[in-house]
Amino acid sequence: MQKNDLFELEITDIGVDGEGIGRHEGMTFFVKDACIGDVIRARVTKMKKNYGYARVEEVITPSTFRVVPKCPIYRQCGGCQIQVMSYESQLEFKQRKVLGNLVRLGHFDEEEIKRKMLPIIGMEEPFRYRNKAQFPVGYNRDGEIVFGFFASRSHNIIPVEDCYLGVEQNREILAIIKAWMEHYRIRPYDETSGEGLLRHVLLRYGFHTGEIMVCLIINGRRLPHANELADALTVVEGMTSISFNVNTEHTNKILGNQTECIWGKPYITDYIKDFAFHISPQSFYQVNPLQTEKLYSCALEFAGLTGKESVWDLYCGIGTISLFLSQKAKQVYGVEIVPQAIEDANNNAELNHVDNAKFFVGKAEEVLPAFYNGTLEGEDFASDSHMNRPDVIVVDPPRKGCDPMCLDTMLKMQPERIVYVSCDSATLARDLRVLCDGGYEIRKVQAVDQFGHTTHVESVVLLSRAKAK
Ligand code: SAH
Repeated sequence: MQKNDLFELEITDIGVDGEGIGRHEGMTFFVKDACIGDVIRARVTKMKKNYGYARVEEVITPSTFRVVPKCPIYRQCGGCQIQVMSYESQLEFKQRKVLGNLVRLGHFDEEEIKRKMLPIIGMEEPFRYRNKAQFPVGYNRDGEIVFGFFASRSHNIIPVEDCYLGVEQNREILAIIKAWMEHYRIRPYDETSGEGLLRHVLLRYGFHTGEIMVCLIINGRRLPHANELADALTVVEGMTSISFNVNTEHTNKILGNQTECIWGKPYITDYIKDFAFHISPQSFYQVNPLQTEKLYSCALEFAGLTGKESVWDLYCGIGTISLFLSQKAKQVYGVEIVPQAIEDANNNAELNHVDNAKFFVGKAEEVLPAFYNGTLEGEDFASDSHMNRPDVIVVDPPRKGCDPMCLDTMLKMQPERIVYVSCDSATLARDLRVLCDGGYEIRKVQAVDQFGHTTHVESVVLLSRAKAK
């Protein structure tokens, strides 16, 4: 077979990125936007020795899992990879993805993991769940100002009136900003020439408070006609914070370092369960707060706290999990690499009157060993005999997982329980193998869907020390 060949293909499986997989004449084909159960006419786009890539020319018999994607630009955008699947089958796919990775990459026994896996926690409403949206600004072919998204793997803006993952208010806000730009002749930033002013619009919404934040990211040090913009935006119900952020660099990074508030507060407030958080344009905050509550409640439950425990929360970000744990623990210690996040974590602890959480800036793989070896600078833990032997360690690392040094130190510290929160089940599987070879056993696995219509899935795993045989 060669490029551009047409053939009929039945999609019998689904890949880790949501692509359809089918077999034809002994070859495996990967097909974007094809759904398991579809019979399609496929066109070869690339051939390798034992496998190939194809695209959907026509769906001959649609899969029973298939639904009509709600979004008209679903295929170009690339933000959602599996919107063609019914939400129920998306959840099945995610449950199987976690199981598959634990078995294939972690070499765990399939039947054993199946017994330990709880049913995946899905969303009640799989659309409109994101509290944060970032729209690049540009011109379309007719020279009209457009907001949109970058087409997948490119920097062409696809105009988007409304993204179904974001909140409905975004559309009204963008329309106001567009009218203001047209009226005052504010030009969108042009990547190639480096000219023009407005680069991105960042919008955030507090699901529990209804507070709205608008931040304009500009290629300049001051925002002309800022008062007129603020006047126009304040008609939007819930408007709480309007600011601009300076980014004059030629870079892919969206935000620069300096933010100036032009109206209202420099932050919005939102809650995760009973905890309040101040969110500024630059701070990290979970984008799906409703599912985050479920994820962290599960982590808290798995931690099995009674009030006497000392707990480490590694990769703690702004301290969300740490605050959750602090309700039921004697003492919580958080570690995070980004200094600004630790500043937020300390402020969040204060805001919520939490006085049993302490935060350290640094790499988990350096802070934990330093602590274990008694060389953690500036801290005197001698009075706290608990510290050397935490009862529980919670980790929530980025996609690349935990550093070997961090895992090694966790094993040396021998906590009663380890709770592993993961956004990538492949690195989770790898790390669980290390922990289990080091004397721990998996007790429970809970997958949680934080990002409907994408292939991402979060998991929480409870491990405890294996009983001596
Ligand atoms: N638990 C947090 C967020 C976890 S995301 C929350 O609930 O909000 C992973 C975090 O790990 C990020 O904040 C990232 O900055 C941090 N991180 C990345 N590498 C790290 C390392 N080597 N040591 C400590 N923290 C790290």
